[in-house]
Formats: sequence, structure tokens, C-alpha cells
Amino acid sequence: MTNEILYGSCVCGTVTYQVVAPFLRFAHCHCSRCRKATGSSHATNLYVVPSQFKWTSGQKSVVRYDLPTARSFANTFCRSCGSPLPHHTRSGKEVVVPAGSLDDEPSLKPQADIFWGSRAPWGCGGNALPQFAEYPPWWLASQPAVPADGPRPASSARR
Ligand SMILES: [Zn+2]
Ligand SMILES: [Zn+2]
Repeated sequence: MTNEILYGSCVCGTVTYQVVAPFLRFAHCHCSRCRKATGSSHATNLYVVPSQFKWTSGQKSVVRYDLPTARSFANTFCRSCGSPLPHHTRSGKEVVVPAGSLDDEPSLKPQADIFWGSRAPWGCGGNALPQFAEYPPWWLASQPAVPADGPRPASSARR
């Protein structure tokens, strides 16, 4: 699927965006920061290179918080309704898209449960996906995980 376009929005509808395939990764993160940022047992995030993402309305209502003690963790949300929204990583190399903010279903399915070692005892999981205590070995590999028959992302790690 070469021209897959997904639309997303916050719960009040002020902020909208679009994201275009190819997708780098899709995973459930069970770390304690994602729990607090989502108020749930885990975050489910889709990753793309910045060229595949754009805001389509309401960008002025997007508020960002960068956790000073973290290497990269950020929480981005709508000023009006508080819904989690996509954010650029501090490196600028990727955009993290909270899958729950999508209005469409990605063709890529979740690939892993990460930070499984930090999961809440009451959390959900057991998706029969590979589980990793923290990041999988392939997470930061220069070659993003994309379907073998899919198009290669444009210079993902060399920007
Ligand atoms: Zn909103
Ligand atoms: Zn996390």
C-alpha cells in the first residue's frame, strides 16, 4: 500500500493531522511514563519520519511537555480537551503518533509489547506479541522495520 493516508484528531476536534505510510514501527509501550501520560496501562504508538506527518488544523492548540530528566520522553496534547497528540522526537528524526488519536486503521499491526518489564500488574496485554523488557534490539536499528514488500522510508536515519 503505497499511498496509505491516515487521519487523526483530538477528542474535541480542534486539532487534526494526517500521517502517510510507510510506518517505521507500531508498538505498545508499558513504561511508567507512558502510563502516566495516557492514564492507562500502556501507550500504543505508531512511528513515522517527519516528512510523512503534517498538522491539518489547530496546531496552535497543541501543547508540548518535555520531561527534563528523560532523554527523549515528551507528552503532547490538545490545550482544549487534553487528548494526547503526535510529537516530534527531540532528535527530530521521528514523529510519535498515539494510535488512539487516529481516525483510521493503519495497515501495519502492532509489532511488540515494549518495556514489558515495567508493566502494571493490573494492566492489559497478552496480545501474543513478542515482549521485551525494555527496547527490542531492532528498535534503534538504522534500518526501520517495514514490510519486506513495502516502500523504504526516505532517508529515515540520515536526516
Ligand atoms: Zn481537543
Ligand atoms: Zn513508554
